[in-house]
Amino acid sequence: MTHPYYTDSYTLQFDAHIVAVETHDGRPAVLLDPGYFYPTSGGQPHDTGELRRGDAVVRVIDVVEREGDAAILHVLDRPLSPGPVAAAIDRDRRLDHMRHHTGQHILSQAFIRVAAAETVGFHLSHQSVTIDLDRADLSAAEIDAAEALANEVIWADGPVSVRFVTLAEAAALPLRKTPPGRDGRLRLIDIDGFDLTACGGTHVARAGEVGLVKIARTERRGATTRVEFLCAGRALADYRARQDVVRQLGELLTTGAAELPAAVARLQDELKAARAELKQREAALLALEAAQLSAEAGQHGAARLVTRVFAGRSPDELRRLASAIAGTEGTVALLGLAGERSHLVFARSADAPGDMGALLRPALAALGGRGGGSPTLAQGGGPAADEAAVAAAIAGAAAGLTAGR
Ligand SMILES: [Zn+2]
Repeated sequence: MTHPYYTDSYTLQFDAHIVAVETHDGRPAVLLDPGYFYPTSGGQPHDTGELRRGDAVVRVIDVVEREGDAAILHVLDRPLSPGPVAAAIDRDRRLDHMRHHTGQHILSQAFIRVAAAETVGFHLSHQSVTIDLDRADLSAAEIDAAEALANEVIWADGPVSVRFVTLAEAAALPLRKTPPGRDGRLRLIDIDGFDLTACGGTHVARAGEVGLVKIARTERRGATTRVEFLCAGRALADYRARQDVVRQLGELLTTGAAELPAAVARLQDELKAARAELKQREAALLALEAAQLSAEAGQHGAARLVTRVFAGRSPDELRRLASAIAGTEGTVALLGLAGERSHLVFARSADAPGDMGALLRPALAALGGRGGGSPTLAQGGGPAADEAAVAAAIAGAAAGLTAGR
């Protein structure tokens, strides 16, 4: 069967007749004559559009080529009876598909010429357009060269022509790709002698309509490479978005686009240095605090005892403070955090008495938490607790320390 879009990709508004009413997967569908709507096939998505009769406007939401008789089913958002309609294909979507599909032919041929890389897959959707190449080791130079060649072909603006040949005729031609023929004939797309391939999709009439092909990303996938690219309007939208990001960064860093990488590198260096200095000062401050707390500590049996409840500090900081206090001979530190999450850290110097792990478990249990540790350092967290509750848990542990636990 030949379809009108095979020889005419530009008729997007036309008068037609609904010649049959069907269903597809439970949804209403019609057969249209003539039918310029493109059905999903060959990596290119279907058209969308509308059918109008009087005041009634029905959306064409899917277009499917039926297996068996190759009839084109136009799936509608609600039923429409047989008779005349004014049909309109969504223009932006179709032109976007035509430009990217033609761009794909050109780019695929460019990769053959530059890198002997054959296209083994093609995917076109609203999100992305990709080809899969049968080489996993493409160099950046090869990718750039293929992109450059493809753009030269686009800018040369040669004609893109369609013709039909028999399978026997096709066998004598240098075709890039030969899918199974329809009705013993192949539809060939010829891009001004640069690329000749069999394809059932919709294409632009001149290479220049592709505008630009820009490779956005390459990704190695096993033995193949996936190449994501943008043409025409998508390339422009991408350029705008990137320009906007560069402009915003330039304003933030008060510098031009070319100086951005150096400016960011300088910021990273400064941040690294500032973090290192901050860490050093925090450590010095913590040592000072530990020394102060140790100096204020009261004698508690055989050891000097520091008990304190804090709020708004991290468990890690509390642990470092406890360890620093325990750095002083004969000292025990029983520290707690009150707030959304309670936390206890018990530490002692090597020569001080008491089993911190044994003291911690009942103290944390009193707060509804869990934790543990060694005889010299133990810690754990619990649910929310106020300062009085945490102080009471620590007082209990201090009493246990006196009792020689
Ligand atoms: Zn094609």
